[in-house]
Amino acid sequence: MQWDHEIIIVGGGMVGAALAARLGQAGISVGLVERGSAPKPASGDYDLRISSLNARSLAFVKASGAILPGERCCPFRHIDVANQDGTGHSVFSAEESGMNDFGIFIENRALQYALWQRLEALPSVTWYTQCAPLSTMAATTARMLELDNGKTLSARLIVGADGARSTLRELAGIGVTSYDYHQRAMIINVETELPQQDVSWQCFTPKGPIAMLPLPGQRASLVWYDSDEATKAREQLSDNALQHAIETTFPKRLGKLTRIVARASFPIKRQHAKRYIGKRLALIGDAAHVVHPLAGQGLNIGLHDADTLAELIVKGRDPGDHISLHRFECQRRLANQAMIAATDSFHHLFTGAKPLRQLGDLSLHLAERVPFAKRMMMQQANGLNPFKIG
Ligand SMILES: Cc1cc2nc3c(=O)[nH]c(=O)nc-3n(C[C@H](O)[C@H](O)[C@H](O)COP(=O)(O)OP(=O)(O)OC[C@H]3O[C@@H](n4cnc5c(N)ncnc54)[C@H](O)[C@@H]3O)c2cc1C
Repeated sequence: MQWDHEIIIVGGGMVGAALAARLGQAGISVGLVERGSAPKPASGDYDLRISSLNARSLAFVKASGAILPGERCCPFRHIDVANQDGTGHSVFSAEESGMNDFGIFIENRALQYALWQRLEALPSVTWYTQCAPLSTMAATTARMLELDNGKTLSARLIVGADGARSTLRELAGIGVTSYDYHQRAMIINVETELPQQDVSWQCFTPKGPIAMLPLPGQRASLVWYDSDEATKAREQLSDNALQHAIETTFPKRLGKLTRIVARASFPIKRQHAKRYIGKRLALIGDAAHVVHPLAGQGLNIGLHDADTLAELIVKGRDPGDHISLHRFECQRRLANQAMIAATDSFHHLFTGAKPLRQLGDLSLHLAERVPFAKRMMMQQANGLNPFKIG
């Protein structure tokens, strides 16, 4: 049987485009199917969708040959976690881990654009934009994908990187388990009187965390987690009233705001696909798992899926054979399940009943005083396996 591409990736978001770039870099024939249009470069005010990229994710993105726009990236060297009444406080410093920084904050659109720019230079990558899958069927040596633009494509492996509401996952009949936190994250981009660039901080309150993610210049992205109702009410505030609410709720270290640039809110849930693989099919990124964003790890673990799958594809003879896919599922499910459990525990420890919150405060206290625990947490946050020896 002949196929159109070795690999078809459905979804050209950050995770799908990163996998396409890594495989294209290795000369593997890739078809990338994206429902939207090719992304545009980031310019002007910073977008609300910002992500942290840890050391392992950055290494993977750079290995694909993508060049990130330095002027829109903000490296951070400290992560400061505290609770509101000051009884628990821990500061993680990149220097303690022997690194220059923990990673960078970058707009999602800037990362996606950099990856697509790289795809343009890779002759083995073909993209199909403004189209989506209608049906898919597996044969022994290939899987076919019918698109809503009248085309039908085939490949030895089809990868679903089409986000939390993955069409490919649904067409393959793979179910999910999910949990609604009944919380929203309000993201507010601001300009500040004080420079904010070195540190990313988070403060736990019984209603949910409030956090400051640094952006280049005197800019920051504030994240305010709260109940659905409280967030929706807050969204109606004028800029002046919102500025006052921020200045009276966020820690004093934020200082005065000089401008509210933009704001929006997102519902918070977790979700896990019951399987990551099917016959000649694999799911990666949010199509496979959605985690609570309080630790800024959703994109990072999605890129680690792409990294693991790319390594197996580049090494293997048949990218869709069951043994490779099974290996992928075993490696990634365990790591992702651990991240889902960790972010879930953080949520419940700091927003639960008082005894749970006291346990949360104790964990921050211990993290600050037990160097081994602290080192393990930092390695985990950087996408490194803290239990690996050598
Ligand atoms: C408030 C908030 C803050 C976050 N902060 C961080 C952070 O700091 N660090 C971090 O690591 N993660 C963070 N995350 C998580 C991160 O945003 C996601 O994990 C990440 O965007 C997932 O990328 P993806 O490429 O898998 O999916 P998506 O970004 O959803 O991309 C999916 C792509 O597939 C396309 N698509 C969808 N359906 C189809 C279809 N049927 N056919 C073809 N194409 C399709 C879409 O157009 C899109 O391009 C945060 C999430 C939230 C909600």
